[in-house]
Amino acid sequence: MADSQDYEVLEEIGRGSFGAVRRVVQRSTGTVMVRKEIKYGHMNVKERQQLIAECRILAQLRHEHIVRFHSWDFDERGQVLYLYMEYCSRGDLQALIAKYRQEHKYMPEQTVWAVLAQLLEALYRCHYGEDAVPLQTVYDRMSPPGKHGGIVIHRDLKPGNVFLTGETSSSSSSPSSAPPPLLSIGTVKLGDFGLAKALGSSHQFATTYVGTPYYMSPEVLRDQPYSPLSDVWSLGCVVYEMCTLRPPFPARNYGELQHRIQQGNYAPLPDYYSQGLAQIIASMLKTDLKQRASTFELLQDIQVRTSRKALQ
Ligand code: ADP
Ligand code: MG
Repeated sequence: MADSQDYEVLEEIGRGSFGAVRRVVQRSTGTVMVRKEIKYGHMNVKERQQLIAECRILAQLRHEHIVRFHSWDFDERGQVLYLYMEYCSRGDLQALIAKYRQEHKYMPEQTVWAVLAQLLEALYRCHYGEDAVPLQTVYDRMSPPGKHGGIVIHRDLKPGNVFLTGETSSSSSSPSSAPPPLLSIGTVKLGDFGLAKALGSSHQFATTYVGTPYYMSPEVLRDQPYSPLSDVWSLGCVVYEMCTLRPPFPARNYGELQHRIQQGNYAPLPDYYSQGLAQIIASMLKTDLKQRASTFELLQDIQVRTSRKALQ
């Protein structure tokens, strides 16, 4: 739990589906953070318990490419839950995609790969748990084994939940005077975890969630349970959108969207992008779960491509 006295509340930076998002400064450390409010007045006891359970999971999720969750706090009179988390100063991927669309430019291929690699690392940590040791892990692709513990499925991966921060990924290992790498996107962080599950069953969520679920996988649309591979589908949609600046399954209404997603057909990438990128996107956008790549396989795939390139 956080001590609310310790935070100075600054300006509102946005509005989420559940309340305002503000910048705050933690007085004791001088650290700038984000405070997200969630009104819980309408929730029943079970939903509130689930929300707290989710917060506990989030607090344990520590990774370079996951927005760090610091603490939470209640305003019992106002029935608001405050979540304090890391502030990402360079906005989100949705805004970046919109900028490229406005300027009629392609996002450089290297940028797309950089975002993909960083998000994969974040998802890999989530899907395989804390002791995710690469390469030898035997992994039931549909339902990961419980023995690894701490497995988290994001459930709401979309450009608006991918945050950008000022530092470059390699900044920790390189001297501060070194120039940032060419086409640097900075550090990419996955945010807004788990809450989709905690809030998904609440009445308010159902009535206030007006967004089109462009990134929802075919199995989830068929009311099957979320699996780690559902996040992979969403990631495929996000990466596709970075290249075409449109979601792969655009639709005017829910019925049309559902049909398109179940069919799984999408327009090819512009010629500007490589075959390799098109292939990796295709391996994420397989409607059949059995054919869809896992985060483990995708990371291996990237490793192979990188070493092959280095040998050329
Ligand atoms: P939603 O509930 O619709 O997903 P969010 O709560 O994720 O909305 O975000 C609302 C606004 O606050 C967005 O503009 C988002 O970019 C911004 N925001 C959310 N979290 C952070 C963060 N950790 N750092 C910087 N900006 C954030
Ligand atoms: Mg969000």
